[in-house]
Amino acid sequence: MFKGKKFLILGVANERSIAWGIAKALHDQGAELAFTFVNEAIEKRLRPLAEGINCSMVLPCDVQNDQQLDSLFTEIGERWGKIDGVVHSIAFADKADLDNRFSKTSREGFKLALDVSAYSLIAVAGRAEAIMNEGGSIITLTYLGSQRSVKNYNVMGVAKAALESSVRYLATDLGEKNIRVNAISAGPIKTLAASGIPGFRELLNKFAESSPLKRNTSVEDVAGAALFFLSPWSAGVTGEITYVDCGFSTVGIG
Ligand code: NAD
Repeated sequence: MFKGKKFLILGVANERSIAWGIAKALHDQGAELAFTFVNEAIEKRLRPLAEGINCSMVLPCDVQNDQQLDSLFTEIGERWGKIDGVVHSIAFADKADLDNRFSKTSREGFKLALDVSAYSLIAVAGRAEAIMNEGGSIITLTYLGSQRSVKNYNVMGVAKAALESSVRYLATDLGEKNIRVNAISAGPIKTLAASGIPGFRELLNKFAESSPLKRNTSVEDVAGAALFFLSPWSAGVTGEITYVDCGFSTVGIG
């Protein structure tokens, strides 16, 4: 189903990244991939991973930089022509805004978290639209902290709420061109980004105990759902926030 299809993957930091799990699954199904990195340190870790799956298209893109975003999509357009989908797997917040009380969130910290974690989807989708094949699909990653107050998730929860709302508005806009936009709300997974959240280990334990499946979410769980949303199997689905969290979000009190 993915043979010859082309996907842009934003957000691989290392082999534990959710984006890497999705990329591997796409590669296994025959897709061609392009990756982006935010800085040199990430580039160093990403290049060997990409080379390991015979991918040489590894390009710079700090999503806070409009010029880099423009160059990225120009280069992909020149090298590939059209693409079939985008995986947006990016988030960032100042550590101080996760450590401190939410009511102490700084104006700069709020802007930073919302810019990198929510506006970036709009910036990417708007540019991707121009080089996306009809029937293309964009996915992003979100978390339950957008809907509930989760301890220490703080400003990132607000950013994820903005991200989820953006998914609905982008789905409406891009639906005119038969391009779909969906979000996967993943349960907690031990990654670089997650390690910045104080008390993450306790959160993992709580999830495993309370979820109907009595375990934590794996990257493979998320990758499976991602393949569905990136494939024609989900041709009639857009603007959705789908929970891939072993059922945790469905469990009530008691
Ligand atoms: P990760 O650290 O592997 O990935 C985060 C990525 O964001 C990194 O590759 C980093 O380089 C990139 N990034 C940060 N600032 C950037 C910028 N300015 N420009 C470009 N890229 C930038 O962690 P992850 O857990 O795989 O996170 C991927 C996504 O999944 C995030 O949106 C995260 O919020 C979401 N998510 C994670 C979990 C979890 O528990 N790990 C749960 C639900 C949702």
